[in-house]
Amino acid sequence: MSTTTKHLKPRDMARSADVLSPVDDLATLPAPYDENGLEPGFKEPKEQWAAEHCASLDGFIALDTLKRPETKEEEDEFVRRFLAGLEKLFQDANRNAVQPLALTMEYCAKCNTCSSACHIYEAANGDEIYRPSFRADVLRRMYKRHFTPSGKYLGNFVGADVEVNWESIARLGESAYRCNLCRRCGQACPMGLDNGLVAREIRKLFSQELGIAPTPVHAKGTELQLRVGSTTGLTRPALLDTLEFIEEDIEEQTGRKVKFPIDKESADVLLLHNAGEFIAWPENPAAFAILLDEAGVNWTLSSELMGYDGVNYGAWYDDVQLKKIATAQFEVAKKLGVKRIVVGECGHAHKALGVSADRLAESGDKVPVESFIPLMAELVRTGRLKFDPKKNDFPVTLHDPCNVVRQMGIVMPQREILKAIAPQFREMTPHGVDNYCCGGGSGFAIMNSYNFGDFRNKVSSRKKFEQIINAFGDEFSNPDVVKFVCAPCSNCKGTIRDILKDFKVTKNYNVHYGGLVDIMVNGLASMERPYFEFLRD
Ligand code: SF4
Ligand code: SF4
Repeated sequence: MSTTTKHLKPRDMARSADVLSPVDDLATLPAPYDENGLEPGFKEPKEQWAAEHCASLDGFIALDTLKRPETKEEEDEFVRRFLAGLEKLFQDANRNAVQPLALTMEYCAKCNTCSSACHIYEAANGDEIYRPSFRADVLRRMYKRHFTPSGKYLGNFVGADVEVNWESIARLGESAYRCNLCRRCGQACPMGLDNGLVAREIRKLFSQELGIAPTPVHAKGTELQLRVGSTTGLTRPALLDTLEFIEEDIEEQTGRKVKFPIDKESADVLLLHNAGEFIAWPENPAAFAILLDEAGVNWTLSSELMGYDGVNYGAWYDDVQLKKIATAQFEVAKKLGVKRIVVGECGHAHKALGVSADRLAESGDKVPVESFIPLMAELVRTGRLKFDPKKNDFPVTLHDPCNVVRQMGIVMPQREILKAIAPQFREMTPHGVDNYCCGGGSGFAIMNSYNFGDFRNKVSSRKKFEQIINAFGDEFSNPDVVKFVCAPCSNCKGTIRDILKDFKVTKNYNVHYGGLVDIMVNGLASMERPYFEFLRD
């Protein structure tokens, strides 16, 4: 297999090579994972994968719907449609993005401050293809070559040197899925430029112009949600069955009779979960129900199509899908007449509904949207929920979902809660708005086609794993000490679950994970036995 490694230039994206830059140099993890043998290897890619898709960037495949053309005509048509889409990105009609996109293209000082801010670039020990400004540079040079007079006539002499062919376009598309859209780089840039936005614009071009997006995000994501109500495939009857099952489980585990209020009109709060919680972590919606019931909040869940899954994968790749889902969620809330929507433990739903949707819906169609975190902090602060912190007397650390802290500035209420209920709470370094992404942001958490799960678990999540190990210090390797990573976001939780499983962390070192409401319920004074299974005999 021919490979071209390191010291790459943007123009190399068009160069023929089976793998342009294989992942062969990862940052060393802290002890005990610094020794050979404790880290799982990469899954061996199959030749067939590369023959059908683009595995030539780094050996991984995110875009499982991007197929190699079989004829010259197909390739030419692909290039033509890409260029048409590229031109549109820089037109006024690309209203929300054209200005920051154009600024990022024009004013980059190449200072590389953004590189050291990026957990993926750092995890891969400075691999050029993961440099935040690299994909922007490729896009800039492609645009210049085809849409500026100097680029058209002087080409390579003015830096318009990336040839636009199937390979370079496909690699660019793949590279947009080597970015978690966490925008830590944008926060660090002294010029205020946003390479995360550039990655999303490339994804948008691929989806909206070429009809190419990862299956778990589009066909089994937004399309499924719009058709049946949830990206999990959970239909209304299945939801109602699941809720009944969770009610029975609450009674069995806690002795409490808690009923989920469903489709209650004019409630103060419509709680919108990530529906993945109902399937993968039913203890999370159960914990919400226990807390809201005990605090006497007037709340409801919706069983309407688009009313019980707060996710909106459009936020990661496609403005049209983003708008369809956000407006449908508002419609459900309007119809129920609730005072506000409260978003549960899902980071990207916070951003999609709390930030993006506000700019997509007409003023009369909107319903106020809040995060669950300030509401929970208020219930703790005002004594409507009473705790016995001794019940949570074990090392606890907090992962900050990027969308909650960096996008929405919700930083202190979650700390106020944990400091009140968990005596051994300690921060990760860095944290708050400077947090590192879990590595599962922007769809990675649910993308497992081919070998992409390996990229997430070993590369994009690497920095987060390092932070978890360091947060527990010497206690990390002591299996007699139970430890807990609080991750108040479904996608982050799924990613942390996979790291802990892949690296056998729970099995060997007794490290567990869960949501914020879960540890709150575990610490409730009124609970007769631990809510966490790992604390029960
Ligand atoms: S948005 Fe995040 S993952 Fe993407 S380049 Fe910037 S720092 Fe890296
Ligand atoms: S920090 Fe900003 S100006 Fe510096 S290289 Fe990155 S995008 Fe360019």
